[in-house]
Amino acid sequence: MTAPAPKPWIMGIAPYVPGRSTSEDGRKVVKLSSNENPFGTPDAARTAYCDAGQHLERYPDAAAADLRAALAAHYGVEADRLIYGTGSDEVLHLAAGTFAGAGDEIIHVRYGFAVYEIATRRVGATPVVVPDRDYATDVDAILAAVTDRTRIVFVANPNNPTGTYSSKDEIARLHAGLPRSVLLVLDQAYTEYLEPEDDDGALALARSQPNVLVTRTFSKIFGLASERVGWGYASPEIIGAMHRIRAPFAFSIGAQAAAIAALGDAEFVAHSRRHNREWRSWFADRIDALPGLRAVPSKANFVLVLFAGTLTAEAAYTALMAAGYATRWLPGQGLPHGLRITIGTEAEMREVVDVLRAEVERAG
Ligand code: PMP
Repeated sequence: MTAPAPKPWIMGIAPYVPGRSTSEDGRKVVKLSSNENPFGTPDAARTAYCDAGQHLERYPDAAAADLRAALAAHYGVEADRLIYGTGSDEVLHLAAGTFAGAGDEIIHVRYGFAVYEIATRRVGATPVVVPDRDYATDVDAILAAVTDRTRIVFVANPNNPTGTYSSKDEIARLHAGLPRSVLLVLDQAYTEYLEPEDDDGALALARSQPNVLVTRTFSKIFGLASERVGWGYASPEIIGAMHRIRAPFAFSIGAQAAAIAALGDAEFVAHSRRHNREWRSWFADRIDALPGLRAVPSKANFVLVLFAGTLTAEAAYTALMAAGYATRWLPGQGLPHGLRITIGTEAEMREVVDVLRAEVERAG
């Protein structure tokens, strides 16, 4: 008897590798490997989550009406043009599942978010990987890769794992150059870390254009990664199609309550953004001052550090882990020479720099 055969394109998927929270020998370490908020969860969100725990016997509201209303009020978007999923990861999968299949092509940049390739292959579509421009998104390279089989373009802004950012003009130029039959997914997982003047215009594009989907998450600045709350905004046609394949009860009761409360804590968000801006800039300056190391300019809550000298990224990763810091070494994503490091607390950033400085000196 033969065992069930997975679809051949499924076996072509390299499983997602999450950021580590322990060392190889199981020690608990400071986690600077998954771009989470070092200040934890807003108090009001924790309280709302615990209160919601009084009624675990009921299914959550499948329509997520309260959270959609809160998002609509907060962002000025229409509540009936929202899709949601267990993390924005799921919203990305829903986009691929709704608009692409075998024989279709989906474009993403070479140093892009790992889930794009998984979401593409999962539906049997073909990933088309385009070159970067010094680690940043190259709009011309994306436009040059479009064929009549292209169904989706995935762009994260800021991008992960590079932290690079495309301006509003660049995003508008990308959209203007795409056929209307191609869905442009603008993944804004890190958008709350941008300064207001860096708005890339994604929500406005999604409001006015029939082929733009914006995705957002509560996992980063809102400090709710464990609760898996992601959402998307697009035209009624796009959203209506995506709703047909979403899981009926994407959010738990606690997740919805916590997200609504987190949305209301403007001070927590502003404080997180201020801290991130200050210590990202401090950290990048220190990295650029170390011989052989370079910080890719970042607008997110992490920095991609490149190693071109005697000290390798792998050796730096190992030394940081030994010192109690998990960072993200990404050889599987074509970055054996890079470490992605989340901006943590002041004390954490100072110690990371001390460890790297000592390792650079030791390596000579
Ligand atoms: N997009 C990007 C660019 C990300 O970096 C991440 C998180 N690593 C996500 C989407 C997904 O986040 P979540 O599923 O937690 O919403």
